[in-house]
Amino acid sequence: IEFEHCGFPATLSENLKKAGYETPTPVQMQMVPVGLSGRDVIASADTGSGKTVAFLLPMVVKALERPAQSVHSPMALILTPTRELAIQIERQAKELVMGLPNMRTALLVGGMPLPPQLHRLKSSIKIVIATPGRLLEILRQKAVQLDKVKVVVVDEVDTMLKMGFQHQVLEVLEQVSKEHQTLLASATIPTGTEELAARLVHDPVRIII
Ligand code: AMP
Repeated sequence: IEFEHCGFPATLSENLKKAGYETPTPVQMQMVPVGLSGRDVIASADTGSGKTVAFLLPMVVKALERPAQSVHSPMALILTPTRELAIQIERQAKELVMGLPNMRTALLVGGMPLPPQLHRLKSSIKIVIATPGRLLEILRQKAVQLDKVKVVVVDEVDTMLKMGFQHQVLEVLEQVSKEHQTLLASATIPTGTEELAARLVHDPVRIII
């Protein structure tokens, strides 16, 4: 199977090809159809597996099906433990949404100046990629709201826990509308990670790579 036969919108198919993605990786093969079905997912998948495209693809397809968002109300949220990871995810997201209408992304991460991030939120944003602490800071300022978010990704759940971000992640998720889909990725899923994961998902499909 190849991406060009998956029936994605033409521009998205072209973007996959331009990025050099022709054949889905195993995690993409499993996660994309489940993601598109609307089910929650817990995937044990490490960096290098193609997990980023695996969660971005269903997210982008769903975002395309929705009308333009109102300002300050993204439809998709990706939480990551580190700035570096967030930057990489935004880069891959931009590759996928190139040339697609109303698909602006915003990077809301600590360790970078706040004002440009607030400025970016003054126009309509579809996908927010954030670290928990900075996102909470911006939420407190009411510069973004999460009540229209329909797809949530929490990447590297195990690292979130190791870095002590558990409560911040839960605090962010409390502000997301009840009707949302959650996709979790974690390199390994030890007991503590499983407990946090269980609080974030409903009736998940498990994907083990
Ligand atoms: P990740 O596991 O998400 O960190 O991705 C690892 C690397 O694999 C990234 O540099 C991606 O650009 C690349 N990649 C993701 N999906 C594919 C694919 N289907 N074919 C080739 N490379 C890919």
